[in-house]
Amino acid sequence: MDTFSPEQRHRCMSNIRSKNTLPEILMRKRLFACGWRFRVCDKRLQGKPDVVIPKAKTIIDVRGCFWHRHGCKDSTMPKSNIAFWVEKWSKNVKRDHGNEVAWRDVGWNLIIAWQCSLEGVKVDHTLERICAKIELWTSECEIGKPRRILHRMELPKPIRKAKVGGA
Ligand SMILES: [Zn+2]
Repeated sequence: MDTFSPEQRHRCMSNIRSKNTLPEILMRKRLFACGWRFRVCDKRLQGKPDVVIPKAKTIIDVRGCFWHRHGCKDSTMPKSNIAFWVEKWSKNVKRDHGNEVAWRDVGWNLIIAWQCSLEGVKVDHTLERICAKIELWTSECEIGKPRRILHRMELPKPIRKAKVGGA
């Protein structure tokens, strides 16, 4: 049996309905308001990325901090069944990495938006930055550079490498 703090339980529940978490909904609304058209959970790309903006050749991957081990204060450690969790997290992190490589190989820009950057007072700032970046990357495409540079942005900025398991 697992012992969950209410917060951990909440995070588990949000993972179950992971297709329409509040941060994702907020992001889609803002993108739409900025005039971007996008596909949600696109089956044509590995791992069915959350948001795909064809015009900007950009994928937005919204990652739950607990499940994907961001390393922030939301990446809490359960009190029991550690082995189970470590295995699960390690699979998630490996899958994330695999997806990232696959997307890059087929020429997509990537924005990783950790859930903690899409909560509370940070939401607005994060969404603003995302919209601005997509705008910039798209205008670069349109200039018609002979060789397009692939972009990657992570929000919040990475502080240290995400920890998969252990204390
Ligand atoms: Zn986080």
